[in-house]
Amino acid sequence: MTKPVENQKNVVIIGAGPAGLTAAYELARVGTPSVVLEKDDCVGGISRTVKHKGYCFDIGGHRFFTKIKAVEDLWNEVLSPDDFLERPRSSRIFYRGKFFNYPLQPFNALSGLGIWNSILIGFSYLYVQLLPAEPEETFEHWVTNRFGKRLFNIFFKTYTEKVWGIPCDQISADWAAQRIKGLCLMTAVKNAILSPNGNGKSKRNNKEIRTLIDSFHYPKQGPGMMWERFAAAVQDKGCDLRMNTGVSKIHHDNRSVTSVEITGTDGKTESVSGSDYISSMPLRELIQRMEPAPPDKVLRAANKLNYRDFITVTVIINRKDIFPDQWIYVHDPQVKVGRIQNFNNWSPFMVPDPETTCLGMEYFCFEDDGLWSASDDELVNMAEIELEYLGLVVPDDIAEGVVVRMPKAYPVYDGEYQDCLNIIRDFINSFENLQVVGRNGMHKYNNQDHSMLTAMLAVKNIFGARIDIWTINDDDKYHEEMDDGDDAVDKMLAAVGVTQPKVPRRVAKRK
Ligand SMILES: Cc1cc2nc3c(=O)[nH]c(=O)nc-3n(C[C@H](O)[C@H](O)[C@H](O)COP(=O)(O)OP(=O)(O)OC[C@H]3O[C@@H](n4cnc5c(N)ncnc54)[C@H](O)[C@@H]3O)c2cc1C
Repeated sequence: MTKPVENQKNVVIIGAGPAGLTAAYELARVGTPSVVLEKDDCVGGISRTVKHKGYCFDIGGHRFFTKIKAVEDLWNEVLSPDDFLERPRSSRIFYRGKFFNYPLQPFNALSGLGIWNSILIGFSYLYVQLLPAEPEETFEHWVTNRFGKRLFNIFFKTYTEKVWGIPCDQISADWAAQRIKGLCLMTAVKNAILSPNGNGKSKRNNKEIRTLIDSFHYPKQGPGMMWERFAAAVQDKGCDLRMNTGVSKIHHDNRSVTSVEITGTDGKTESVSGSDYISSMPLRELIQRMEPAPPDKVLRAANKLNYRDFITVTVIINRKDIFPDQWIYVHDPQVKVGRIQNFNNWSPFMVPDPETTCLGMEYFCFEDDGLWSASDDELVNMAEIELEYLGLVVPDDIAEGVVVRMPKAYPVYDGEYQDCLNIIRDFINSFENLQVVGRNGMHKYNNQDHSMLTAMLAVKNIFGARIDIWTINDDDKYHEEMDDGDDAVDKMLAAVGVTQPKVPRRVAKRK
């Protein structure tokens, strides 16, 4: 059993994803010992990079972009400029055999859809301006009120339902507000008209919304490269990073966590304790594994938290230049694939042979559905058939396929989640030495940057700050797409000693 050092902080961190490793990094910076417990055999969590015969691929493509200077600084501190590429973004929507630019550009979209369709889209937009859906409770209401029903059906409904596996009228409006805030048909049309080149690009400035960000950074061998460097850096500074070590129980005395039980791959259990605990494991599991069991109300709330799971079928193709984008969204309801990544276009260092292409076919599913339990051969076969149906690849060009399953890729924002989260948050807050961070750790749709930020602030709290990290990435407070939100993050970080110089809210350009 690992004993806490007397009179010194000794932190137990659950999970070696971006949040857990950032917490360890920040602790190592101030010389505080930590142990990181990771159930898998690799670091990076959902942001890992999988390697197969020299081909590298992500669990979904992972862009590195942030408006948070402290996070950006950390990325640059850990990865040298030569390893952290700046990439122009290229992504399109594939709908009924045609490609449409994404982010949507009105003239491109309307010319692709044809005159008659465009007129109907205009009428449908005018109709909701006169008779908007009220109250605006669901994703469908939110998008329809801003784009009209017809455009909602074409560009939002199919893909969103593929991602979430539930009808758009059952998805909370919060999700739309958080992900595509500020975007509406009129704004998009205005941007297109006012910019000299007709695509809105020259008018882009730091007030613009996230969906219009058109370049990003990317580690040359995928996001996992960043997290492997973080892992090496914290280990160099003495952090005890324990792989294949799942946390199976969290012991507590109703006021503090007293220890965690870990189970190795051999099934042996051990107890690990510290002065403080930071958890990035899924919130539902954390609550379920607490001993003694939390009150019924809290357990019931945790049991209601839902997740969407994710399968990548990576297909290696004996041909180059399949399509020029990093990814395409597939809105065709005839195929199950939701998005296709082209890893050659993320970074040329992701493929060992430039004459070949590595595509990631992305399928969204639930752990108990047929897709998740299909065999690897069945999934690869399906991916090949769909690639041919979409007219992108002929079967003879396909060399092989590899399947990776990622459970709990997305915390689901359904109608009940917010009430459940409030109950759980109050319960967690009643512990004096437990903090939850990250994406599934907080059941928040956080990207890497916000996952990291919550971890940085949790470390500050261990040393006496009193920051409510639940407010990070809240729509109305610190949302990344709002100027006020950025100022709020700045002020909060400045208050705890993390400097945030006023720089344009984009990842700074490299030479
Ligand atoms: C398809 C997809 C695309 C994405 N694209 C982007 C993008 O472009 N840019 C971006 O910034 N973000 C993106 N994200 C989000 C990004 O993946 C997450 O924000 C980030 O990985 C969250 O980090 P985390 O450390 O909070 O959680 P995770 O990455 O989930 O890491 C948690 C870690 O905890 C471990 N763990 C779980 N349970 C236990 C246990 N009981 N004991 C010990 N360890 C445990 C897990 O194995 C994992 O390693 C994307 C996510 C998805 C699903």
